[in-house]
Amino acid sequence: MYYNNDTIIFFDNNFVKAKDATIDLYSQSLHYGYSVFEGIRSYEINGKSKIFKALEHYKRLCYSANKMHMPFDYTPEQLIDLTYEVLLKNNFTNAYIRPIALCSPNMSLSKGIKSYLAIEAWEWTNGYLANKMKVVTSSYERPNPKGFHIEAKVSGHYVNSILACQEAKDKGFDEALLLDANGFVAEGPGANVFYEKDGVLYTPSRGNILPGITRQTVFEICDELNITYQEKNFKVEEMYGADAAFYCGTAAEVVELDSIDNHPFSLSWNDTYSSKIQQAYSHKVLEKPFI
Ligand code: PMP
Repeated sequence: MYYNNDTIIFFDNNFVKAKDATIDLYSQSLHYGYSVFEGIRSYEINGKSKIFKALEHYKRLCYSANKMHMPFDYTPEQLIDLTYEVLLKNNFTNAYIRPIALCSPNMSLSKGIKSYLAIEAWEWTNGYLANKMKVVTSSYERPNPKGFHIEAKVSGHYVNSILACQEAKDKGFDEALLLDANGFVAEGPGANVFYEKDGVLYTPSRGNILPGITRQTVFEICDELNITYQEKNFKVEEMYGADAAFYCGTAAEVVELDSIDNHPFSLSWNDTYSSKIQQAYSHKVLEKPFI
């Protein structure tokens, strides 16, 4: 369960109990997947809750609303303050935060008339993705950037993610890897992908992916640890002989891949730069130094 009788959320300019918040069945968001959202983590640091990369997430929420022509007047700073209030009111420290901007009743295929912001949060107990994931290339492609604003985090895009993820599970794998319309590796249903070969990390270039905030954090960690990385277009076959690979995202953090299309990776995880990045990430979110 994501909430109980006492859980407080921010909804339509008020703090209300989650159980009392309702959305209109005629909402444009419900019918067309026309809403924008974020997935954010907070961590307990010195007994207090600290939101990791709050500004980056809320800038992206504003960007997403803008790209979708939704009326949305909050500033990232206001959104951060409201989120800390939600965490405080619920006594949450380690939490997953899910803000979503929903649109009012409207059956027309034109821009939203009014939006409602909800900020929901729940206590974080365990990882969202399994560790050491067996990944399979999906038969579903990522949405075409000529058809969608794929750098925006829009609810409707996630129908594609559900299809890909379920297909992978039905085939006995943990997670899917989706290609773009040109057959290059794009990303997972809810995470970005990196692979490591001969001491260098590779990840798909922007253009056909949601360029994640965690992906950007991995770049920062690489700079700090003097690890070389490169953004490029590559085919999945290039990953088959790789030394290691991982998925990364706010919820997933940095997750080791066990294999891709049943091809295992050649190095033991602990001997890879990828594992150093995983450790460095878990320090960074807790504001602990990592040497
Ligand atoms: N790609 C997709 C499709 C995602 O849903 C996510 C999760 N938001 C990511 C990548 C990773 O993004 P972030 O690191 O900002 O969470």
